[in-house]
Amino acid sequence: MDTMAALKARSAQLVDLHHIMALMQWDQEVGMPRRAAAGRAGQFATLSGLLHRQETDPKLGELLARAGEQPELSGVEQALVRVLRRSYNRNTKLPEAFVTEFAQLTSEAQACWVEARQRSDFALFRPLLEKLVVMSRRQADYFGYADHPYDALLDIYEEGLTTAATEQMFARLKEPLIARVHKWQGRTPGLRFAEPFAGADQERFAARLLAAMGFDFDRGSLARSIHPFSTTLGHHDRRVTNRYSPHGLDFVFGALHEGGHALYEQGISDELAHSHLDDGVSLGIHESQSRLWENIIGRSRPFWERFFPELQTFFPAQFAGVDFESFIQGINRVEPGLIRVDSDEVCYNLHVLIRFELEKALLEGALAVADLPVAWNEKYDEYLGVKVGSDEVGVLQDIHWSHGSFGYFPTYTIGNLAAAQIWAQYKKVDSDYEQTIGTGDFFKIRQWLTEQLYRHGSVYPPTELLEKVTGQPLDSKYFLEYLDDKISGIAG
Ligand code: ZN
Repeated sequence: MDTMAALKARSAQLVDLHHIMALMQWDQEVGMPRRAAAGRAGQFATLSGLLHRQETDPKLGELLARAGEQPELSGVEQALVRVLRRSYNRNTKLPEAFVTEFAQLTSEAQACWVEARQRSDFALFRPLLEKLVVMSRRQADYFGYADHPYDALLDIYEEGLTTAATEQMFARLKEPLIARVHKWQGRTPGLRFAEPFAGADQERFAARLLAAMGFDFDRGSLARSIHPFSTTLGHHDRRVTNRYSPHGLDFVFGALHEGGHALYEQGISDELAHSHLDDGVSLGIHESQSRLWENIIGRSRPFWERFFPELQTFFPAQFAGVDFESFIQGINRVEPGLIRVDSDEVCYNLHVLIRFELEKALLEGALAVADLPVAWNEKYDEYLGVKVGSDEVGVLQDIHWSHGSFGYFPTYTIGNLAAAQIWAQYKKVDSDYEQTIGTGDFFKIRQWLTEQLYRHGSVYPPTELLEKVTGQPLDSKYFLEYLDDKISGIAG
């Protein structure tokens, strides 16, 4: 077998293992019996071990070294070699003892975090978080970095992202966002529903929205879970989950958000199936697609001019007394709060900024874990003007640190900014974009996104892909313009 054929076979095999694990994960979140948890954890450990051995197999390294000498590789083949090399280099840089120790620590830390959060007691989580910071620092040293240890961690989630670039991104956002929060906060009333929502109706409406977006139910499914997520189990198997609380419209925006992730994956070219390229390219680009559907399209006036009557028909009792204008104002209300995941679009990136500044300080050793809650609370007061009453709604609210995921949060902001930048580009090719949205038929939008972005999977690195689609690197001005355009029109 020639080198390239051997590499493709390796890639397919590794992808199979990843998808089998994704299926186990999906099942765990969606339907696994309670007492199966310990057995499932063992299955994960077994498969993770197998996968790690395959991913660090010296024979794979030899194939990758030889691939460099191959003449006339196609663009897609070159991309596959690049992506496999990145994965191989990363995996082989970590000693096996470190990987095991880290897995052990994060599994303990997760259980501890759940309890600490329930009791709203940071002190309980503190010793493990201290170890996690030390190990993340070691992880950065293993991976290597040019300027800042945090660079090595950011790069895990967003290829090529650096501390300096992230600082620059937030420097251009911080003051403009704080000013806009002051200008708009509390200017429009929140939504109140006369009655709670029934889960079965919510699920039907969520499926209705997914179908309208163009989610292909022959190549994906919708299920229930405690936390909404989307996952890929195969080229023709892109799944989303949603949750159905009796209060509020989380089920609507959860469906649009996860649907956005899934549309991206369903749009990847068949040519890339069964390989490492059959995947969204980075967390930031992925999030740009979920936020585009959830917020830019899904909180827009034309979208609801089309779907609000259906929503009223689905839920006549709940929407009794809610008119269209108050609905639009309610779903776009700007109000600083304590919880990132409940945040409006204006405040959201300030929540992310706070985490970025704290993570960087922890990694540098400028901030001790013991001082983290105080630093957290001070920043919430300073940037968002809110007082943190307890650790549960403060420093313990996110699961990420218990996973040992330092460097993940900034990808949320990259997603928000990239969504606005990509949308600005779309508006150039469709000047009647509001009318397009208002028809409730998103073929035209989906077709453009597929052509420009979805179909490429992981062929181009994220920064290159964004430049291909929009003609320039990430620029926060599009996001600020988008907010001004939308919120001024609603909040005055
Ligand atoms: Zn997302």
